[in-house]
Amino acid sequence: MSTKAKFQAIRGTRDLLPPDTALWNRVEQTAREVFSTYGFGEIRPPIFEPTELFSRAVGGDTDIVSKEMYTFVDRTEKLERSPTIGKLGVFIERVKALYETGEIPRIPDNELAIERAQAKWKTVEALLERGQGMKEDLEDMYLLTILIDAMKLGLDVSLRPEATASVCRAYIEHNMQQMPQPVKLYYMGPMFRRERPQKGRYRQFYQIGAEILGGPDAPAIDAELIEMLMTFFDKCGLQGTELNINSIGHAADNCRRGYVAKLREELLKVKDKLGADSQRRIETNPLRVLDSKLEHEQAIIATLPRIADHLCDECKTHYAAVKRELEVRGVIYRENWRLVRGLDYYMRTTFEITAQGLGSQNAVCGGGRYDGLVELLGGPPTKGIGFAIGEDRLILSLQEGGKAPAAQGPDVFIAWMGQNAYATAIRAAKNLRNAGFRVELPATELKFGKALERASKLGSRFALILGDNEIQSGEWTLKNLATSEQQKLSEQALLNYLKSL
Ligand code: AMP
Repeated sequence: MSTKAKFQAIRGTRDLLPPDTALWNRVEQTAREVFSTYGFGEIRPPIFEPTELFSRAVGGDTDIVSKEMYTFVDRTEKLERSPTIGKLGVFIERVKALYETGEIPRIPDNELAIERAQAKWKTVEALLERGQGMKEDLEDMYLLTILIDAMKLGLDVSLRPEATASVCRAYIEHNMQQMPQPVKLYYMGPMFRRERPQKGRYRQFYQIGAEILGGPDAPAIDAELIEMLMTFFDKCGLQGTELNINSIGHAADNCRRGYVAKLREELLKVKDKLGADSQRRIETNPLRVLDSKLEHEQAIIATLPRIADHLCDECKTHYAAVKRELEVRGVIYRENWRLVRGLDYYMRTTFEITAQGLGSQNAVCGGGRYDGLVELLGGPPTKGIGFAIGEDRLILSLQEGGKAPAAQGPDVFIAWMGQNAYATAIRAAKNLRNAGFRVELPATELKFGKALERASKLGSRFALILGDNEIQSGEWTLKNLATSEQQKLSEQALLNYLKSL
């Protein structure tokens, strides 16, 4: 029996294949075109970053950071992978030296582990010298390996679960605050979250996002960003879109903090009627109770106080102006007071777009203003707003709506016969391809019938037949595979004919 391993894509990841990839490319091309007409340039940040960047930007208490990140230690290459027992003493000394130069992270856990490992090594070394092998000795060795395992022998890094943190990090790192403000950037690429896979939810998924950093927080900026987003969806042919907007004020006592206190007070009164998650969130993050999808909580949530009634004057004015600006731009929206974000630096405008054909995972885009984020990451006070589109879901919705392009076969299949014709076939293929046609040139000679059969299977529009007759006369045969009509043409006439179609 064969014992060959059968490899499969890891759960929650998938291959994107033709013809679907043509739709992905079309969507990405549309994003590039639309975003550039609004003055955005592309940024391509790395796919992994220090874990600390995400725990700070996304928030250590969020599901994303606490449960869903793919994290690993990017171990320094200056250390052996698996030292033998006899070499552990040298290994620990080496770790200590690298710790002192900062090549191994200078964190308290490492300091402690190194200290303890040094002490434990002394015991183990003595035992090794005596050559004993008692049970207690094994325990000492085991403890030593545990101490070594606990050391972080390199930088703690994570695959990015989102890209806003990276864009803000890059803004600071490259002193972009010295460029004309605001700086408008877009990105596209894979993100990684260890979520439970289902339709529209993957562990490697793709986002297309844009951020506006710096400059004022004028409502026109929020509105123009949303206008751009809706234009993009429109150009993609996305159907049944619904734009939900809200303002979540800002983190002050006379604004969101006051509202959250009031919300908590009201939630405590109905605590017994809520599910376990919501009960916990009353303490940890009451705003998130508003996200609940539990059927029996909906009627209770409908009676809770609404943030719009608790915004400070400035936030109220800003929100009213954003709505007015959207109306001027002809962008249709729905106000949704339950659209919230749990982190302190999110403020004022939040928005989400849903689309049809996606079942429960129907959000194709989320976004909002985050004026405090750049500062939180060590940069100057900077205004910021952005969005992230779930590209997988956008594509799914387009496919459900019948917007997927059909598979494209070749324009011309070259049915060549005989070595004489082969050289001409190669030249013809090259010239036709240079002129922009999709050409299939079989690598081995096929019998006439087989060649035509293959051409039809591939969905080719024409077969160019090149045999001895054609080479001698210089008149090539072009067969239209849909109508079976044939015509004889010189090379130049054939090119002209195909171009004229
Ligand atoms: P977020 O970064 O969580 O605000 O998500 C922005 C958008 O990314 C969502 O509206 C979804 O369309 C998409 N998204 C988030 N998580 C996933 C996932 N695990 N699989 C597919 N799409 C996702």
